[in-house]
Amino acid sequence: MTMNAPLTGALGAARPVFADAATAYIAANDFDRPTLVVDRARVVQNYDALAAGLGRAFIHYAVKANPEPQIIRALVRRGSGFDCASRGEIELCLSQGAPVAKISFGNTIKRGSDIAFAYGVGVRLFAADSVGELDKIARHAPGARVYLRVIVENSLADWPLSRKFGCAPSSLPDLLDHAVAVGLVPYGLSFHVGSQTREAAFWNPVLDDVAELWHAARAAGHDLQLLNIGGGFPAFYGQPVQAPRAYAAAVMAAIAARFGDVPQVMAEPGRGLVADAGHIVAEVMLVSRKAEDDLHRWVYLDIGRFSGLAETEGEAIRYRITTPHDGGPTGPCVMAGPSCDSADILYERVPVQLPLALRDGDRVLIRNCGAYTSAYSSVGFNGFPPLDVVVL
Ligand SMILES: *Cc1c(COP(=O)(O)O)cnc(C)c1O
Repeated sequence: MTMNAPLTGALGAARPVFADAATAYIAANDFDRPTLVVDRARVVQNYDALAAGLGRAFIHYAVKANPEPQIIRALVRRGSGFDCASRGEIELCLSQGAPVAKISFGNTIKRGSDIAFAYGVGVRLFAADSVGELDKIARHAPGARVYLRVIVENSLADWPLSRKFGCAPSSLPDLLDHAVAVGLVPYGLSFHVGSQTREAAFWNPVLDDVAELWHAARAAGHDLQLLNIGGGFPAFYGQPVQAPRAYAAAVMAAIAARFGDVPQVMAEPGRGLVADAGHIVAEVMLVSRKAEDDLHRWVYLDIGRFSGLAETEGEAIRYRITTPHDGGPTGPCVMAGPSCDSADILYERVPVQLPLALRDGDRVLIRNCGAYTSAYSSVGFNGFPPLDVVVL
């Protein structure tokens, strides 16, 4: 499809940072399938900003947010570490030159053989949140350092993560003792405030809770060295967010006030590094109404819930969309993906305002999609191709 869509429409005018490399690349090229275009330079810029704000804390990029090898390599060059969730992610990071000392195995649910693999290649830092996982680590990675992940309540994140992971605060003392009993080194604590935590101040109630656990563990004789603060650093999706450097600095100040002199602080940003470095170019497949008097149009894209836009689940993440007709009159639309699955609806509860002139064949840009899109894309469900990725 050829097209010279005005790529800075109404939204762009309000936010001139849209004139970025990924947008320029999309404007200059044709695409025959939905494609994520990611600008590595922007990832590096985000890394530098977060690193500056985080000060003495070190970064382990959460690989799952976007595992493109070229992004991993760019971050390796910048000195980043990596939070990996599986053998596959560890192999990926090693293949791109990551030093094994900067890789942590952060999933609290690991396959025994993957732990053994990680230990064999030299990974020495593992996450756990249960007796069963500690036993597994002790068996396959004897003597390793472990950080215990705790459940945090009070998440104010747009995409909360905590329910599946972490131990209840009440079971932490026993888990720390158990780690010692099975020959592991209880090295620290970890938590995740929830992904897309838009304001640094939202961290405070969570930090209050974790600090209490931290001090209690130390008082009980565990010489904790590492506070792993996880991810949660936000991206711009339309609602205001603090700039990364100021945000990270505010979080670090809040940590210093509550934890005092923690020997090591580690952060695991995913979204905050990659989301605004990429945009998806997609195509409108159909615009229709279910009845003549229907107030809503249905807009079907060639990308949906199963081909990259998984985070529209619950309409949690609301992407901004630009079209060739921006600036003209708009109306409410239900937005859906192309597959024959009725769950493949992106936005319905809160409809999207889109130009009345929008029609099939139009190219649309889905903004700030560098995180949690390509990696979530199904392989060929309904014969729709997985999201293509171009890394600049
Ligand atoms: C997904 C994940 C992250 C990254 O979270 P973001 O909100 O994308 O920064 C960090 N740590 C762990 C353990 C995760 O599972």
